[in-house]
Amino acid sequence: REEYCSKIQEAIEAIGFRGEYLDHCRYGSGHINDTFLIRFKEPEGNVERYILQRMNHEIFKNPDELMENIYNVTSFLRDKISKMHGDTKRETMNVIYTKDGRPYFKDSIGACWRAYLFVGDTMSFDKVENTKDFYESGVSFGHFQNLLADFDAASLHETIPDFHNTPVRYEAFLKAVKEDICGRAKEAEAEIRFLMQREKDMGICMELQRAGELPLRVTHNDTKLNNILIDTKTGKGICVIDLDTVMPGLSIFDYGDSIRFGANRAAEDERDLTKVSLDLKLFEAYTKGFLEGCGGSLTEKEIELLPMGAKLMTMECGMRFLTDYLVGDTYFRIHREGHNLDRCRTQLKLVEDMEQKWDSMKDITGKYR
Ligand code: ATP
Ligand code: MG
Ligand code: MG
Repeated sequence: REEYCSKIQEAIEAIGFRGEYLDHCRYGSGHINDTFLIRFKEPEGNVERYILQRMNHEIFKNPDELMENIYNVTSFLRDKISKMHGDTKRETMNVIYTKDGRPYFKDSIGACWRAYLFVGDTMSFDKVENTKDFYESGVSFGHFQNLLADFDAASLHETIPDFHNTPVRYEAFLKAVKEDICGRAKEAEAEIRFLMQREKDMGICMELQRAGELPLRVTHNDTKLNNILIDTKTGKGICVIDLDTVMPGLSIFDYGDSIRFGANRAAEDERDLTKVSLDLKLFEAYTKGFLEGCGGSLTEKEIELLPMGAKLMTMECGMRFLTDYLVGDTYFRIHREGHNLDRCRTQLKLVEDMEQKWDSMKDITGKYR
């Protein structure tokens, strides 16, 4: 870690920042990239801040494609926001090019660095503490959909193939059960059965997309609360950040993953399953925000399938935890024995709770259509 961080000076030198370098420090609480806040003194005497990130090359193998996606999406957003007389420096991320005109810099040991304008006077939260912030994140992710509704999603690279291809995830799960290389399947009999009973749900949305009944959209794919910057003065969501996983996909999956993450009353690895449930107040707050933000850009079919998006994302996530448990915890980092099985159980409990609250979920999504 320290070795590549010494390369930060190389990156600072290569990227086209204006003015005189002042200092830098680690910044934020991201888990994927190494993030720094860096300050420059401009010729006019004012201090300008930037975000500098060393990209995670273990997860993202193709920085060219990834940065092309980010560059194309943010350029499109900038044009749109400018036409709407918005603040193009605060309402979208802005990539700072390298001095030789590239969207990122590769240092002498092969690590990739990129920089963005810093969006100041904002806050971001790791956990959903109140309905207001969750609502605001819904507005922001919905607005993101709205602004990108006429972007050609198919032109984006699929930087992580089959990311939300639930049938492919299901096949991987079945294989893990069949091979049972760690002999753990007996510990998870109920969970395995639960998923197998829902086999027919796995492919529903993807099939509708293939049949042309659901549109391919630009999706964010990491729609957590802390990937929205909230304006400190107004309390409103102002900028969608963390665009590493921007890809072609389904709007209902972006929505669904927010619900999975934010509307669950319990922690993702809670052992006491009686605490796990879908909080309908939070569900309603996010749904209201999301549909307001979308501003009519979703189709009737997409709105109808919002609850399904939430259920499928939760089921897929539970299935991935279970698969990882069965193959010996190779993907998700664990902090205790059976951690991935615990995580799987919270997700499946949440699915069960959604099934029980299905009519309410339908009523709420229908109410704000
Ligand atoms: P995650 O774990 O969510 O995947 P990550 O490692 O990919 O995170 P980011 O979310 O891109 O990292 O950035 C980390 C943090 O840095 C953000 O949570 C936010 O607080 C801050 N940040 C990122 N970009 C900006 C920006 N343009 N302006 C202001 N703050 C930013
Ligand atoms: Mg982030
Ligand atoms: Mg990220």
